[in-house]
Amino acid sequence: MMAASRLPEIVAPAGNLEKLKMAVRFGADAVYFGGGGFNLRAQADNFTPDEIAKAVEFCAGHGARTVFLVNSFLHEAEIPAAREYIASIQRFPFDAVMVSDPGMLLLLRECGVTAAVHLSTQMSTLNHLAIRFWRGAGVSRIVLARETSLEEIRMIRDHCDAEIEVFVHGALCISYSGRCLLSRYLSGRDANRGDCSHPCRWHYTLVEEKRPGSHLEIAQYNPVASPGGRSVAGTEILSSKDLCLIGRIPDYVSAGVTAFKIEGRMKSLYYAAGTARVYRDAVRLAGTDEFTRRLPFWKEELDLVSHRPYTEDLFNEFGSGGFRDLPMVQKALFLGYAVSAGNGRTAGVKAFNPIRRGETVECIYPIEGDIRDATLHVERIVDGDGLDREMARPGETCRITFDRDVLAHGIFRRRLVDGTDR
Ligand code: SF4
Repeated sequence: MMAASRLPEIVAPAGNLEKLKMAVRFGADAVYFGGGGFNLRAQADNFTPDEIAKAVEFCAGHGARTVFLVNSFLHEAEIPAAREYIASIQRFPFDAVMVSDPGMLLLLRECGVTAAVHLSTQMSTLNHLAIRFWRGAGVSRIVLARETSLEEIRMIRDHCDAEIEVFVHGALCISYSGRCLLSRYLSGRDANRGDCSHPCRWHYTLVEEKRPGSHLEIAQYNPVASPGGRSVAGTEILSSKDLCLIGRIPDYVSAGVTAFKIEGRMKSLYYAAGTARVYRDAVRLAGTDEFTRRLPFWKEELDLVSHRPYTEDLFNEFGSGGFRDLPMVQKALFLGYAVSAGNGRTAGVKAFNPIRRGETVECIYPIEGDIRDATLHVERIVDGDGLDREMARPGETCRITFDRDVLAHGIFRRRLVDGTDR
């Protein structure tokens, strides 16, 4: 096992304050999030100033670092607004700010922001000379292009001691990380300004020029033969697989990676917490025999968050390239989490999907050495008015009594059969 001080960080996505807290509780060493502007997720629940203050305070109290995103590309006319925006967030003691645009880096320094600067993957940094350039410009950490191979990371490490961060999990683009005009052309929403409508994930059919209403199905995959796959017709011919480097963690740790980043600010609280706990545990155990023993568990856990078919092999580096004919995979439904516990078998549970009296659910916890996950039976549901209920509905917080003790911050889920819920 590596010495604790040298463990690479797990940097988790925080689409809102609730997700941020759970990602940290489940093992994230750092979280990245954006405010009201100039970050590459226009559709995320971006943080208000009040939420930013709470996020910074929570992270400081839990030993986690904050990375604040100002990573959109600046158009000329936006410079005054960017200056104002920076002035409005300058008071927050972030550990780092993330930029893509060198102009934004200059503005941050001009405005007196002293936090460390991380460079986004959007700058497609692939070699140690580019890293040397960015370090000279005051950048302390470089998030490498996803297109950097493991061998290239080793070569970069041979040439420089800069902090390097790599994406370890989550969605990929069919273009160089987000540098894509597909969304802008097809829906008027610009991926380079944080507003991608993901047309590469849309389902496409074939239409013959003289028969405009007649859509011919392209049989890319067979839903019947796809356990856990969504039953959809058509094809996602432009859609990439999702990245999942869990089995390669020891290689990346020994290559000298400083931090592993998980993609997905738009994804669920369950995703943020579940992926953070798996990768935190895997990095902790890298280089030990226990890594190999626990790998099947981590793989199963990552299979239980919604995802497209996984790949660890962007460039057929490990000889496992090729396309598998599976659509989006969803094998578990996120039900909710324990907002309060400590009363034995009863906990306050915030529901995100219906939780029914009499059903059996799974509960996952942060991994602190042992895996404490449990299967629980829902015995009683009491709403905020003290009334017994058959079901906790999405958005409600109810007192739920299980057949065994439940711990604080447990996340509940239900396994799906063939991608469907009952
Ligand atoms: S359309 Fe697809 S490939 Fe293009 S930026 Fe969006 S997610 Fe990436």
